[in-house]
Amino acid sequence: MSFIYIVPIELEDHLFLETLEGLISDIFQMKTRRAEFKINLQEVFDGRRSQYNSSMVLQQLIANPPRDAEKILGVLDVDLFIPILTFVFGEAQLGGTGSVVSMHRLHNRFYGMDEDRDLTSRRLLKESVHELGHTFGLIHCSHPGCVMNSSTYVENIDQKSSEFCPLCLKGIRKSDVDTAPRRLFTFPWHSRKG
Ligand SMILES: [Zn+2]
Ligand SMILES: [Zn+2]
Repeated sequence: MSFIYIVPIELEDHLFLETLEGLISDIFQMKTRRAEFKINLQEVFDGRRSQYNSSMVLQQLIANPPRDAEKILGVLDVDLFIPILTFVFGEAQLGGTGSVVSMHRLHNRFYGMDEDRDLTSRRLLKESVHELGHTFGLIHCSHPGCVMNSSTYVENIDQKSSEFCPLCLKGIRKSDVDTAPRRLFTFPWHSRKG
């Protein structure tokens, strides 16, 4: 059996992961497993930007994957960037194993507003499903409500759902047929829960 590994990286509040894991398991119809990996955040810190290089976090995340890790999702608190952008909510390997999501800009407090745990939780789910969707080979989708719609600002995250549009859903099914022909999944692939 293979798993979607959920890897907290120096994450302060692990409670967010409880809900996340259940929903991710429902959506992708795969079991999740939580594990701590050896990740050195100081190594990927850019002092000039006061941010952390997300591609380098990804590299560390997939350096020694457990044998039963089909997908890996790192979750952290620190602010991530890639050199050409001021920040990223997350990053993933297209059709690969690794993905990472930052909670830094998912909190209302980052925008000077009152903290809202449920909202943060929903944002985390959407961004996690989005990045994992990339690992299943999905690219950005123009369907407004689709979770694979790209998000530049947190408002964009709030506007989309945590679900795949029918086309993207098809892509996930197909990616499974391509990459793991021996595994049989039961459909439907996503639930309406949450
Ligand atoms: Zn994306
Ligand atoms: Zn879509």
